[in-house]
Amino acid sequence: MAVPSSSVFDCIVLGAGIQGSFTAYHLAKNHKKTLLLEQFPLPHSRGSSHGQTRIIRRAYAEDFYTNMMEESYQLWAELEKESGVKLYRKTGLVVIAPPGNEEFETIWKNLEERKLPWESLMQEQFKQKYPGFSLNPEEVAGCDHDGGVLSADKALRAVQEQFLKMGGVIRDGEKVKHIQPGQVVKVTTNSSVFEAEHLVITAGPWAQKVLSPLGLELPLKTLRINVCYWKEKIPGKSGLLQNFPTFLAVNPNGEEHEVYGLPSQEYPGLFKICFHGGNEADPEARELQDKPNEIQDIQILCKFVSQYFPDLHPKPAVIEQCMYTSTPDCNFILDYHPLHKNIVIGSGFSGHGFKLSPLVGKILCELSIGKQPIYDLKPFSITRFKTQ
Ligand SMILES: Cc1cc2nc3c(=O)[nH]c(=O)nc-3n(C[C@H](O)[C@H](O)[C@H](O)COP(=O)(O)OP(=O)(O)OC[C@H]3O[C@@H](n4cnc5c(N)ncnc54)[C@H](O)[C@@H]3O)c2cc1C
Repeated sequence: MAVPSSSVFDCIVLGAGIQGSFTAYHLAKNHKKTLLLEQFPLPHSRGSSHGQTRIIRRAYAEDFYTNMMEESYQLWAELEKESGVKLYRKTGLVVIAPPGNEEFETIWKNLEERKLPWESLMQEQFKQKYPGFSLNPEEVAGCDHDGGVLSADKALRAVQEQFLKMGGVIRDGEKVKHIQPGQVVKVTTNSSVFEAEHLVITAGPWAQKVLSPLGLELPLKTLRINVCYWKEKIPGKSGLLQNFPTFLAVNPNGEEHEVYGLPSQEYPGLFKICFHGGNEADPEARELQDKPNEIQDIQILCKFVSQYFPDLHPKPAVIEQCMYTSTPDCNFILDYHPLHKNIVIGSGFSGHGFKLSPLVGKILCELSIGKQPIYDLKPFSITRFKTQ
């Protein structure tokens, strides 16, 4: 949509990934004249919000996320209703772990205390329900019944469309080159200058590049994620197409990592099984990497797949890239810029921010318009890093 380049907005949101788009949507709902700026032509696949699927779950070891998911589910349902697009598919989310695993125990304690629907799965039950999924004999499993799959691309499109319907303005292909803080913030892009009373920065893996010139260094790491899809050895034979669960494997074989998986959706007959993590990389250079066979996280996945899913080829059929922006404690950053209170920052989503994005957007909007969010934002504060 064309706007005069000298317009003054109530708020500019920098970055049209899922977090920025939901922030802009909530600002527009609050009748704020809002501009959403994006450096790439939309849609694009250079950040963290692209692709067709993301896991949604209440199963968290940190109870504050479990609490926040309550409202997040409601906000997802609201967007589904407004847009008429189905975004959430309930499949249940299976968590597996070695016996006595602390994270596993805490997850179920959190769900149980809140009387949320979950069930512990005995080995025999698990075998019957998921015939192609081989648990280690001593491993434990549980199911978060409200867990499932979000349609990521559709969600991004839906929230941006609703924002536009409410009078919001999106300008894509506008890379922000300079921010001049002040009572009115001046934002210069490659082709225009915009002004607003408030700015929200949701720049995903580019956050540090945007924040450094504003005098803020955050302990963010940007990681290249290899998104792997796996096919059956004999198509249709394993029964996995009918029974593949959305899952999270915590410390499989007692190793210090997590693997997650989702039923076939992106590519017919291919299952998404990924390593939760990756190697540090600049978002501008994420495709530059060594041979897939020599990458450690893919080697770990090959071993995982051959052991847990013996009916799948133990080599990925498709590998795509995405980016995580991770903090040291893997909790988000939702806070004001320490020196400029009309600049709000949403960052560090550490590979698990999609499911919470409707609520993250609401919180960032509230911070920006001076409304006190009902959640305790201490786990998301910038000051927490000073003690680390
Ligand atoms: C492989 C993978 C799997 C994941 N799985 C899950 C999951 O199952 N469940 C879950 O909840 N979460 C998951 N996540 C995490 C979730 O997708 C992210 O937390 C979320 O997408 C982050 O969104 P964002 O808006 O912060 O970042 P982004 O989507 O990267 O958006 C930031 C935007 O800012 C723009 N930008 C940056 N700098 C500028 C500038 N100077 N000028 C203009 N625009 C700029 C960028 O181009 C980009 O579009 C996963 C992430 C990945 C990568």
